[in-house]
Amino acid sequence: MAPQVEQQRIPEVAAEADILREQLDYLISHSNGNAQCGCSECRRYGRVRAALLEIFIEPPRSKVQEMAPRLARAA
Ligand SMILES: [Zn+2]
Repeated sequence: MAPQVEQQRIPEVAAEADILREQLDYLISHSNGNAQCGCSECRRYGRVRAALLEIFIEPPRSKVQEMAPRLARAA
């Protein structure tokens, strides 16, 4: 039989993933049904959405331009 610690860890991770999915589903369905009513749940959804979609948003051009002089100086 596996140690109890190992048995407990896996369900906890699965439970957290389930909670994350449930929360996301809940927030999506809330914001869809209410078209951003502006309550705290809508604001939570906005924060979560921004975090999850972060990688799909291209970095602002100003940041790239700021970095160019620094790179030139370092070279
Ligand atoms: Zn709302």
